[in-house]
Amino acid sequence: MNLLDGKYVSEKLKLEIAEEAAKILANTGRKPHLVAVLVGHDGGSETYVASKMKNCEAVGFKSSLVRYESDVTEEELLAKVAELNADADIDGIIVQLPLPKHIDPEKVTEKINPAKDVDGFHPVNLGRMQRNLPSFIPATPYGITLMLKEYGIDTAGKHCVVVGRSNIVGSPMSILMARNTQPGNCTVTICHSRTPDIKKFTLDADILIVAIGKKNFITADMVKDGVVVIDVGMNRETSTVTKSGYKLYGDVDFENVAPKSSWITPVPGGVGLMTIIGLLKNTLASANKEVYS
Ligand code: NAP
Repeated sequence: MNLLDGKYVSEKLKLEIAEEAAKILANTGRKPHLVAVLVGHDGGSETYVASKMKNCEAVGFKSSLVRYESDVTEEELLAKVAELNADADIDGIIVQLPLPKHIDPEKVTEKINPAKDVDGFHPVNLGRMQRNLPSFIPATPYGITLMLKEYGIDTAGKHCVVVGRSNIVGSPMSILMARNTQPGNCTVTICHSRTPDIKKFTLDADILIVAIGKKNFITADMVKDGVVVIDVGMNRETSTVTKSGYKLYGDVDFENVAPKSSWITPVPGGVGLMTIIGLLKNTLASANKEVYS
């Protein structure tokens, strides 16, 4: 078993990103600028946004946070997005999900200018990604491809099974692995909550990517020897042992699956750290006008 080490890869890529940011500053006098919009006080969202801001600063980006209480109206939020779209000093806009029930996340996502949609959730970016055109790729799938590339994992001709079909992880991941790219060129199977006998598919996976949010869902009897396992799951449980007061578990039973796998991501220390890299690289690409000129 070999570890796909998100800490190692993310630290390495952060240095490269910081060098690029320094070049932009030297050439243009400005830093790449990411704006996050956070509505309400959801614990998970607060943590994710704080981590995104911290990482931006660490690589020499500018970051700004726009906060609203959870009673903000959809209209107000859409007006703010329009204002951020029009601000030439802003390269990337993210609106942290989930949003309160009275706000339609699709409307908000579609309001973001695709050229500043560094989360890659806008239908224009998803469509362009599917067509293999320059686009912002959703941060988690993007981070996973960077990790596979870094470790030289050969994906061409392999059977990739993606468990989970969310808009932010499973679905874009399945598109990326099927594209004519490296990583990519896989034969892809997507499983979800309506798939009967998931084990039948996971047992045939050369590459198994799991993003469902169910602690230790994938057990050793569900994988074949030599499988490459990417565990996206982040299942938080309270703990009296850790300093933070909680412990993270993946969707894969790491202890028993790792001995059968050729490569595997740990949780924590795997995909989560790479997600931040995906976002930073998208913001950098936006500042460099690499996707939309
Ligand atoms: P989501 O929007 O809740 O989607 C979950 C997906 O899993 C859905 O497609 C659902 O199927 C499927 N599913 C649920 N239970 C299943 C079961 N028993 N068998 C098969 N499929 C099942 O979740 P998400 O946003 O993709 O996140 C998934 C996990 O990844 C969560 O733990 C989340 O915290 C984590 N995550 C981690 C990162 C990171 O950076 N590491 C980033 C994003 C998310 P249906 O479509 O049929 O409902």
